Amino acid sequence: MGQFATLKAKVGKFSLANKTILVPEMGRSSSLLVAAAMRGFGVDAQVMETYKGLQRGKQYTSGKECFPCQITLGDVLYHLEREKELLGEAFKPENYLYFMAESGGPCRFGMYNKLHRIILDSMDGFSKTRIASLTAEDSYSIGGLMKPEERTHFRRTAYVSIVISDILDRMLWHTRPYEKEKGQAEAYYDKALDTMCLAVEMHGRKKRFQKVYKILEEVVRKSQDIVDPKIPPKPLIGMVGEIYLRSHTKSNQDLIKLLENYGGEVVNASIAEWVNFVSYENMHKAKRQAILALRQRELTLLRQHLRDWLNNRIELTYQYFRMDQVYRRAKQHLDIYEDHKIDKLEKQLDNGRLFSFHVGTEAALSIGGALEYCRHGFDGIVNVFPFTCMPSTMCSAVLKPILDRKQIPYIDAAYDGTYQPNLAAAIRTFMYQAAQHQEKRLAQSA
Ligand code: SF4
Repeated sequence: MGQFATLKAKVGKFSLANKTILVPEMGRSSSLLVAAAMRGFGVDAQVMETYKGLQRGKQYTSGKECFPCQITLGDVLYHLEREKELLGEAFKPENYLYFMAESGGPCRFGMYNKLHRIILDSMDGFSKTRIASLTAEDSYSIGGLMKPEERTHFRRTAYVSIVISDILDRMLWHTRPYEKEKGQAEAYYDKALDTMCLAVEMHGRKKRFQKVYKILEEVVRKSQDIVDPKIPPKPLIGMVGEIYLRSHTKSNQDLIKLLENYGGEVVNASIAEWVNFVSYENMHKAKRQAILALRQRELTLLRQHLRDWLNNRIELTYQYFRMDQVYRRAKQHLDIYEDHKIDKLEKQLDNGRLFSFHVGTEAALSIGGALEYCRHGFDGIVNVFPFTCMPSTMCSAVLKPILDRKQIPYIDAAYDGTYQPNLAAAIRTFMYQAAQHQEKRLAQSA
């Protein structure tokens, strides 16, 4: 089979029935919870161990690819090689589906699964492992992967799982800097994550979300016991950037912990933000296309675009409804930072004067998100990204002068898998400035 034919035949929406689906770890909690949701629907989903195969990922790439592309390639190669070793003759590559989503636009994310396909095809024994791919173009519709009667419900359960993972992460970031004993917050988080995975797996398919929320509420309520109320509030740092790097602690060398070690409390942008952004963007795109079709009097196209607009609108409304519901329950017990809505981020762009959503990519989200943090009185902004990431470089170029004028400390943190000896010094200086900012802010509000 030629390379283009294989991209069509072995990358796409294949039924998950009777397959083991291999999920790459991005954020630990989000990957584990989405895999738990899949298991609840009878899918054998496994989250692959991450970062152990990085050398393999680098060996099969040229060095020009985005860092997350190398990491995820390494993860799948490591996993399949290990399975082959363990199972010997019984190893059947066709029994696995490797999950790798994509998005269109000017970014290279749409190319990861193509490159991974070519590499898997070039390897002895893995060419039969197909790649299950969802795309942002159709709001990650899962048509083809699951039975038609389960698709909408699974998609929504997966969304709720993602919001729960965001809440658990926010719980960790809000308790760890104030824990009574070192290590308590992380140990509690690990247990909480297991509890929530079990809850989602048991109740998700049966639509018993209220039961899941109740368990979450209890988990969040008990996290208060870790916190030492005598520790004063620390400088608040907002994190934005490329979704994989900012969520994957191994590749960002646990930057949040490093910032906490230098005296900060961090809020990272959420994972649900990206899902909401995709629905928001597709809704607006359908609206623009509908207007164009109306002007051209193309009635069939007009109907189709209106239908797309309505579907995305319904999906976004549903997502916000669930997001608000889950946050409301958690916030009764712990004052975690609430997630923002996408139109709020767009408003921060000052009618496209600073940047435009039409450009696409995460840059718009990161710029809007950083400015939204500033509006809420954060003391510093960190932009985390893979070395040479195009949207994050744009974000850096736009944000730096704005935050400089606002006198809010800002730092870029780019990673490519190597250790940068000066990064810790730069972070320490940044945290010193953030502490000064907090002092000034508190003095002004006193
Ligand atoms: S967002 Fe950055 S890292 Fe991700 S695909 Fe685009 S350029 Fe690569």
